Amino acid sequence: CGIVGAVSTRNIVPILVQGLQRLEYRGYDSCGIAVHAGSLAPQSGAGLQRVRGTARVAELLAQVQAQQLESATGIAHTRWATHGAPTVDNAHPHFSCGPGSDADAPGRVALVHNGIIENYEELRARLQARGYRFTSQTDTEVIAHLVDSHYGGDLFAAVQAAVAELRGAYAIAVLHRDEPHRLVGARAGSPLVLGVGQGGAEHFVASDAMALAGVTDQIIYLEEGDLVDLQPGRYWIVGPAGRPLTPQERPVRTVQ
Ligand code: GLU
Repeated sequence: CGIVGAVSTRNIVPILVQGLQRLEYRGYDSCGIAVHAGSLAPQSGAGLQRVRGTARVAELLAQVQAQQLESATGIAHTRWATHGAPTVDNAHPHFSCGPGSDADAPGRVALVHNGIIENYEELRARLQARGYRFTSQTDTEVIAHLVDSHYGGDLFAAVQAAVAELRGAYAIAVLHRDEPHRLVGARAGSPLVLGVGQGGAEHFVASDAMALAGVTDQIIYLEEGDLVDLQPGRYWIVGPAGRPLTPQERPVRTVQ
């Protein structure tokens, strides 16, 4: 139902939680956040960490504070279930731990999704045959495993290959364990905007520009089939034909 994501050089966990609070009025049945614990020094235990639940965002905030979750790279989600009951296991972010891994293996891919994947059953059967273990009833989880299956060191290339196999509607934001300062997003059939913050030093994605109110008013409205590749200090937008788009084609607008 709602997405917020960030890449920065400062702790963005409070911005992600505040973004979810700004999206709360739309309604949701569960929420969650995943961060790259290695992206903000000094931080022990590098890797992807997540907190999810079926309670309010205020409760998520309490858990995030109790765990002292801090990170420069993260994604967050409020869910309105379409496939699978509103349970913790079905709450986003979804992880892929790679084929043949057991339930508590560390996450390699973390992903949030708005929308509906129509061909998820066929994709799930194929991924299960390759050894991917599913831990939810959602349509979303196939996207995380698809990205993992295409990953060869470049998250953007992996997401581009994964979305080429999807039918349906999606806005997604994706992190990879091995790329602590990168976030890749894509949209088709569900809205996603890019926010440029602090003179271009940090970048955001959100399902609605309002989620970034008070953080940045510099917004790029992505169009159908666009992909974005975000790092602190740099962003790329690639159009549906795989061509990098110019600032004239996807201009930054000041919103208020
Ligand atoms: N179809 C996905 C699910 O049920 C995403 C729902 C949403 O947009 O929040 O988990």
